Amino acid sequence: MKTFTENKKLSNFARTGVLHTRVGDVKTPTFMPDGTRGAVKSLTPEQVTNTGVEVVLANTYHLHLNPGEEVIKNLGGLHNFANRKGPMLTDSGGFQVFSLGKHVKVTEEGVYFKDPVTGEKRLITPETSIQIQLDLGADMVVAFDHLVGLDESVSDEDVKEAFDRTHRWLERCIIEFKRLTKGVKNDERPMLFGVVQGGLDLELRKKSLQIIQDSDADGIAIGGLSVGETREEMEIVLKELAPLYRDDKPRFLLGVGTPEDLRIAVENGIDMLDCVLPTRNARHATVWAENSQKIHLTNERFKEDSSVIEKGCDCYACANGFSKAFLRHQFKSGEPLAGTLASIHNLRHMMRICEEYQNR
Ligand SMILES: [Zn+2]
Repeated sequence: MKTFTENKKLSNFARTGVLHTRVGDVKTPTFMPDGTRGAVKSLTPEQVTNTGVEVVLANTYHLHLNPGEEVIKNLGGLHNFANRKGPMLTDSGGFQVFSLGKHVKVTEEGVYFKDPVTGEKRLITPETSIQIQLDLGADMVVAFDHLVGLDESVSDEDVKEAFDRTHRWLERCIIEFKRLTKGVKNDERPMLFGVVQGGLDLELRKKSLQIIQDSDADGIAIGGLSVGETREEMEIVLKELAPLYRDDKPRFLLGVGTPEDLRIAVENGIDMLDCVLPTRNARHATVWAENSQKIHLTNERFKEDSSVIEKGCDCYACANGFSKAFLRHQFKSGEPLAGTLASIHNLRHMMRICEEYQNR
């Protein structure tokens, strides 16, 4: 199955291309906002599409706990449920499960965790992660990996153990994915991404990439970054991997990040990124202005500022002249319109960067 067409090699390792999903083609590089519970917070599907966003990510962990994949499947899958026509991607649920910290127990079978609401003991395995994602009806799914943080408390042994387990789990994910998609026509089949792990160990990272590229996974996801390391450390890993990618598979950097991260990632051969940051920041009045400079709209200095968030931005908020003074007032008054307009701007800011590359 052809999942990606490379169009043009740009400077360094950057490239443009087309990602072929079963519900349509996506121009890359592309940024994918997180619709944690099936929708991008405070935005209608139309508002999301109007920012230029082509793919929305939904969180398997959250949807599994509530309302549950059964409910969503019975309602016709995520697209019907959330009224979204364009491509949707789900993560494996692993990131959120591992984020629960001490309430998590990893075994070879899978990960046990405590439901944060009911206190009930739950288990996600590589197989159930794939089952849940396919029940949700995602067009792109991600293999369940063993994630470790990259702060000082994590030993080299922890990283190596997670590394080995990630690849054993990938095999199980592929077997389950093939079992569940058997007989599905190629152009109707979702895509499976395998996850590259290895912490900040460059040799492990390269080995992991090779294993994923040699596997039957349709795409390559780079995991385990943006989990406590510095931007420089992330960049070193991305630079090391950049010359090693094969051209015919899409490359997805998980959970990153800011406009600066986006540029670094694309310059190092990444095609797709997802992050909750642009919309989360926006709801907290933090937006990217000219030259991706971060500003806080609640700041006193914007009290009588009649200018828009970013001069020259063609998003709904800037193009229609919503002033920083107005947005500040809405935020200060707790009005939800402020978060909506700021989210629209931040997503458009990310997509404009993507489009700069696409149009080169
Ligand atoms: Zn704007």
